[in-house]
Amino acid sequence: MAMTKSQTGLIGLGTMGAALALNIAEKGFPIAVWNRTTSVTHDFKAGAGDLADRITPTDTLADLVAAIQPPRAIILMVPAGPAVDDMLTALTPHLSSDDLVIDAGNANFHDTNRRAAAGLPFRFLGMGVSGGEEGARHGPAIMGGGAREDWDRIAPVLHAIAAKHKDQPCADWMGPAGAGHFVKTVHNGIEYADMQMIAEVYGIMRDGLALSAPQIADILADWNKGILQSYLIEISAAVAAAKDPLTGDSLLDVILDKAGQKGTGRWTAIEAQHLSAPIPVIEAAVAARNISARLDERRAGESVYGPAPEPTPDVTISDLQDALTAGKILCYAQGFTMTAAAGASFGWDLQLPAIARVWRAGCIIRSSMLDAMAQALTEDPARNLILAPRFMAEIKRCLPALRRVVSAAALHGHALPALSAGLAWFDAMRTARGTANMIQGQRDFFGLHGFDRLDGKDLHHGPWAHG
Ligand code: NDP
Repeated sequence: MAMTKSQTGLIGLGTMGAALALNIAEKGFPIAVWNRTTSVTHDFKAGAGDLADRITPTDTLADLVAAIQPPRAIILMVPAGPAVDDMLTALTPHLSSDDLVIDAGNANFHDTNRRAAAGLPFRFLGMGVSGGEEGARHGPAIMGGGAREDWDRIAPVLHAIAAKHKDQPCADWMGPAGAGHFVKTVHNGIEYADMQMIAEVYGIMRDGLALSAPQIADILADWNKGILQSYLIEISAAVAAAKDPLTGDSLLDVILDKAGQKGTGRWTAIEAQHLSAPIPVIEAAVAARNISARLDERRAGESVYGPAPEPTPDVTISDLQDALTAGKILCYAQGFTMTAAAGASFGWDLQLPAIARVWRAGCIIRSSMLDAMAQALTEDPARNLILAPRFMAEIKRCLPALRRVVSAAALHGHALPALSAGLAWFDAMRTARGTANMIQGQRDFFGLHGFDRLDGKDLHHGPWAHG
């Protein structure tokens, strides 16, 4: 039986749901909870300590709904996919048209669009939550999608539980339907790229400069005091510094170099292709994870061709720091232009400055650079970040180092897929006269596709013998 009527309910007391429920309770909001496995619900309440008074455990969905003050708000924190559809169906007989269900898992935004358009008999929001368990417990970044008035209704709770950047909550409404989950997807694509670029400079330090993991940890910790200050640099330093409890050796040296993924980076790359939005750094990062998973083939390759990464003495630590800085700016420029393309294509008024502001704290890609990006996008949301004065200056400063690092890596056999994709994209983006005239000539030759001319004259096909 409920002791107090809650304003909010939560379904799914796994890693994220439990942390989010405690966060909500801690901010003073009574919360009713339900979990598929009932014992988990009661264990959760029993382990909630001082917050237990604000938590109402329930054994059935009917009890959950009865424990919440109408109009209700119920957060779903279950695995993305069929579990969400199943829960929406199971909740349907219990809810009124004013009640609000918020899918806070990592849904594919196309699923959220579908659910929003399905005419559910209650209100529905799709909400991206970033920051892992720690973020969910003490302040995540929150990206909401759906009807603005539904967001406004639950916003006081979400603003209270979200991470804060200089007292501003990192929680905002991104747009209708799947807009929140779309922005979370792009966030995760950028996360893949950020992680990959850090791994690439780590590889040069390890294999090119023969630095030990503790030495690399010190360098990363030092970088975290400057322009590269970010959660991912901070945890990379911690990972490089960690000792293996079993052997006492550096933990990083005993971790298998085979990376997993849950698919959100892939969704970003797939969507970018649909949108014709170039995000080669993110695509390279997704491909790099897939390459890492092909361990047997990589071992076979090394046995045939010999080990690739050679000493790379001509690269300095300062070069690596600047190359990573440039790569990061280029990657974010791609992520934001893809987001702008999505906004235009889907008819969503996606606000790039608001997105950058939400990402400044709480989420995995939080960094001091995002604050500067939020400011640059506020000055001119339509401008590619590589054309924003403060980032132009930084790119110009770091570009020689990025060239030195990418070329030295190519000469000495280090794979830098993301950083080199960033450099190639940049060089293409700053070239007014590119080489697609050859592509257009080829297309016209075999397919009579026609071409535009530099001189504006009225002849749009070549003198091909077969034409
Ligand atoms: P967990 O596996 O820790 O928990 C899953 C929860 O969902 C459990 O409470 C489980 O109940 C419940 N559940 C599973 N299947 C069903 C079902 N078919 N019907 C009803 N309930 C079900 O997952 P997480 O907390 O890590 O993730 C939850 C969501 O949050 C996912 O969408 C995930 O992608 C997303 N997310 C996760 C992050 C993370 O760092 N872990 C970060 C950001 C988002 P039971 O106890 O009965 O098994």
